[in-house]
Amino acid sequence: MYLKIKKIETYILRVPLGEKRFFSSQCAFPERNSLLVRIETEEGIYGWGEGGQYGPPEPVKACIEHVLAPLLIGRDPLDKAVLWHEMYNHTRDFGQKGTYIEAISAIDIALWDICGKALHVSVSQLIGGCQRKAVEMYATGCYYRGEHYLDLDRTVKELGEEAAEYVRQGFHLLKIKVGLLPVEEDAKRVQAIRENVGPDVDIFVDCNHSYNANTAVRMGRYLEEYGILFMEEPVVPEDLEGYRFVRDKLDIAIAGGEAEYTLNGFRHLIENGCIDIAQPDICVTGGLTEFQRILAFAQAYGVQVIPHAWGSGIAFATALSALSAIPVNPHTANPVPLQNEPVIEYDRNFNPLRDELLTEPVSIADGKVVVPQGSGLGVDIDRTVLEKYMV
Ligand SMILES: [Mg+2]
Repeated sequence: MYLKIKKIETYILRVPLGEKRFFSSQCAFPERNSLLVRIETEEGIYGWGEGGQYGPPEPVKACIEHVLAPLLIGRDPLDKAVLWHEMYNHTRDFGQKGTYIEAISAIDIALWDICGKALHVSVSQLIGGCQRKAVEMYATGCYYRGEHYLDLDRTVKELGEEAAEYVRQGFHLLKIKVGLLPVEEDAKRVQAIRENVGPDVDIFVDCNHSYNANTAVRMGRYLEEYGILFMEEPVVPEDLEGYRFVRDKLDIAIAGGEAEYTLNGFRHLIENGCIDIAQPDICVTGGLTEFQRILAFAQAYGVQVIPHAWGSGIAFATALSALSAIPVNPHTANPVPLQNEPVIEYDRNFNPLRDELLTEPVSIADGKVVVPQGSGLGVDIDRTVLEKYMV
């Protein structure tokens, strides 16, 4: 079988959040952004991909249009790994991390979508087969909100209620934010959430790299006291020594990698003993092709892989497809979420790009997200919604 790439289109989507904006330790999120790519073949098969959700999507769009698309027109999408290497080799000297890898990610995902559709199989089947038809989800929430996020008494009360609401909605796993307030104040926020949801809910904490190593250890001791299962991005992604220091000093599992790129980036994080849980974002780190390499490398080191998921319905369907194919690691006859069974991140902040964009929304049953069963990514885009949010 041969296919031929005919056309590559990019779409920037943007939704202002207004009153629904939220804060991490790093910044406010006043809007949702997404860069989608649509690749179409001479045979009329098309695929969707996504990249560039972290920063402004415009540079990723320019990179696809001006640098990568000219390499791909007329080529066969079934050669997706060949094309991956060509794109990477073409941009290595100036693009080993950041924009260029995000652009390669978006294209690579669209190529996998096309391959699945051409062969009438799902992306999970292309990877090697579906290990699970539904993926356990965890709620990401409890951000800093409103103008009063520095009012500790008010924020502690509201957070406790927000966390309890997620449990009422059926979530058994919950990820919350720290790092914007002094350690002792953030510890009170974590304590309030723990007290409101009780001991049976698994809680993870995301610092968004807001600490130096020593402060991270101080925060980590509080997290251990409240039975938190992992501490995400305790220090800046560049500080491998800091990561290792924190991991050596604490018993709590250390997670990281949402701001890391390609197998080489993860090689440094993992070989240096920085993390227990790797969190590659497939739309950022090099697409599904590179994700397979990161997964194999991490599993050889006994590191869990829990993809970071942030973006539109295409990013979510991509993460779901990849997660459905991850083997239980290490194997047991009774897999436990996070311990050896992968889980998917389900951000609870307002996100119409995820919740409205697909022609058939991803469904949830018994606290799990059902993996779309169609060929390719198993989802398609509603053109009316696409046009509504297009810049
Ligand atoms: Mg994070």
